[in-house]
Amino acid sequence: MISARDELATLSQLAVRDLEALMAAGYRTPAEVLDHLPKRYEDRRRFDSFPNQATPIPVCLRGTVIDSKKQFGRGGGFYEAIVMDGGGGVFGSGKITCRWFNMQFIHKLVATGQEVVVYGKVKDFNGRLIIDHPEFEVLREDDAEESGSIHLERIVPIYRNVAGLAQRRLREIRHGFLLQCDPGTLGAALELDAAMPRVEMLRRAHFPESMEQAQAARRHFALEEFFGIQLNVAWRRSRHQERNGRVLGKRTTLLGRFYKSLPFDLTGAQKRSIHEIVADMREPRPMNRLLQGDVGAGKTFVAMAAMLLAVDSGCQAALMAPTQILAEQHYLTFRRWLEPLGVRVALRTANRDETSHDEREGDPQIIIGTHALLYDDELFRDLGLVVIDEQHKFGVAQRASLIRLGVVPDVLVMTATPIPRTLTMTIYGDLDVSLLDEKPPGRGKIITGVRVGAKQSDVTAFVKEQLSAGRQAYLVYPLVEESASLKAESATEAFEKWRKRLSSREVGLIHGKLRPEEKEEVMRRFREGLTNALVSTTVIEVGVDVPNASVMILHHAERFGLAQLHQLRGRIGRGEHKSYCVLLTDGKNPEAMEKLKVLEQSSDGFEIAEADLRLRGPGNVLGTTQSGLTDLRFPDFLADTALLREAREIADRILTEDPQLDGIHRSLAELIQEDAGMMDLPGTA
Ligand code: ADP
Ligand code: MG
Repeated sequence: MISARDELATLSQLAVRDLEALMAAGYRTPAEVLDHLPKRYEDRRRFDSFPNQATPIPVCLRGTVIDSKKQFGRGGGFYEAIVMDGGGGVFGSGKITCRWFNMQFIHKLVATGQEVVVYGKVKDFNGRLIIDHPEFEVLREDDAEESGSIHLERIVPIYRNVAGLAQRRLREIRHGFLLQCDPGTLGAALELDAAMPRVEMLRRAHFPESMEQAQAARRHFALEEFFGIQLNVAWRRSRHQERNGRVLGKRTTLLGRFYKSLPFDLTGAQKRSIHEIVADMREPRPMNRLLQGDVGAGKTFVAMAAMLLAVDSGCQAALMAPTQILAEQHYLTFRRWLEPLGVRVALRTANRDETSHDEREGDPQIIIGTHALLYDDELFRDLGLVVIDEQHKFGVAQRASLIRLGVVPDVLVMTATPIPRTLTMTIYGDLDVSLLDEKPPGRGKIITGVRVGAKQSDVTAFVKEQLSAGRQAYLVYPLVEESASLKAESATEAFEKWRKRLSSREVGLIHGKLRPEEKEEVMRRFREGLTNALVSTTVIEVGVDVPNASVMILHHAERFGLAQLHQLRGRIGRGEHKSYCVLLTDGKNPEAMEKLKVLEQSSDGFEIAEADLRLRGPGNVLGTTQSGLTDLRFPDFLADTALLREAREIADRILTEDPQLDGIHRSLAELIQEDAGMMDLPGTA
């Protein structure tokens, strides 16, 4: 017996080649190797029959290589092997050509006469059925004869490739470890499956007897992973509550004057959220709250109310926005509402420092900026509250780095819910949540339409008609991925064209390449109605608020993400006018059409976010800023609400029973430490 925690280098079971390859791939112990589960399985008890046409999904075929040759063309070489139906001597009539391009060594791995398993999508190339770059495995003569083979006549695991190791070797190594490792060193099973030791779960995940068994085992390990995250989140939350915050918000004079000065009533949801925030701020433990509200739900006024409470208690409040445009816009909004109340407001961004008041009057009470503010320790003398707007643009680590700022300030995080509920539980699990689930009254409806191959003249006519009625329009172009400079160009070219089309109107242009002061000037002109139409890239995606703009034309809509389209659409429908969102597309991609249809049918941010998660998976939905989650081993399961809930419940229970986590086995403690490391990570100069 060996310990699963032994260093691989100390194991006599491994050949030098194996060891080197495993170490190069980053594995250090048998436990780590075993924790890496198969990426898929092949049921090698029954192969697919050789197809006679192209297949949209991959097939798994068993056959014999009857011919192979190296070819050299202009663009480089390729190797091809013709595989014929019928392993074990019985030849059928099916034939498939496998091709590999620019892989000089491949002929050493596959040769005529060998029996192989190939896996891939079949395409029809001038009547020939071809799989390019199939995953493949060469069978050995004894595979079939040997009873209990791990390579044939059973469900076989397929792993992510490790350079220098063939699939069958990866399989053999894991199989060996499962037999050799002391089960006690492979970790304890989660409580709920106490009846089944973890080693048995691992066996089922690697060498299952049925697909159902494999799936159940994977689900178990997903639960285990989510449990780790949830325990972390619960732990962080309990630690945060132990910290010393300050009691704020006992005085409400300013807030009262602010309410009186508003020309409208706050919505029920706004009032409820403010109450929740006030209650938090009055507690001695620091507030750690998430305000979730769809675009246009009126998060800014809730933030303002909270910030006034802090000011009334004699300390500073800061608001951080993800972009310069948004910071400038917030600055204007805050000045407009708060200057009459005598509150001192300052704008602090990398490019601009401005105050609403004479410096001699005193320090600013409210500071607005971009997230660069986070790293400026000088700035705050007495920070009581930090509001982070549009949090999905911020990383978890950035949020955590706030904790460095001396006395722990109250924190309010605001997001426009491009994140589904299940993910909220994971990313923001340590926050209390207030929901703005009601929009201010008097908003015009937004009508959304997908238009396939629309005529430009029709689009132009529609825009003109709306401009003649006094409205304004956004003409949005996607970012071109290949190069940042192309992005700007595509919008720039479009700008010239739109100027001609709308010759009697003022057309503006905004994109990420403009200097901050140029951007602000363009936005000012649009906000004040001097420009009628604004050609833009996605820089207007978050927060921009121009109520008179009622038309949005989204060009190449298929190229945008669903959550992004919803955000963009949130720029219109902000005034009393009926608004129109037109999604222009070529209609070529069925998946993209499905995505656009979601927008036609729903305006509910939660619903759209969940559809997005279903269609694209969490890695894509979250992007790289939410780093922790893209490294998940089981991202597929993130859409499984029941599983996440279960993980949360177990974590809560354990933490209640054992608040300091003394009784938890080591692997969990390690997991928590790892994450604590991440928490210290400001990481940006
Ligand atoms: P978001 O939640 O997207 O950040 P904003 O705070 O920018 O929304 O508010 C969107 C618009 O709604 C703004 O023009 C704001 O002035 C207006 N608004 C906010 N609350 C109310 C309300 N209770 N009644 C009427 N209009 C409101
Ligand atoms: Mg906002």
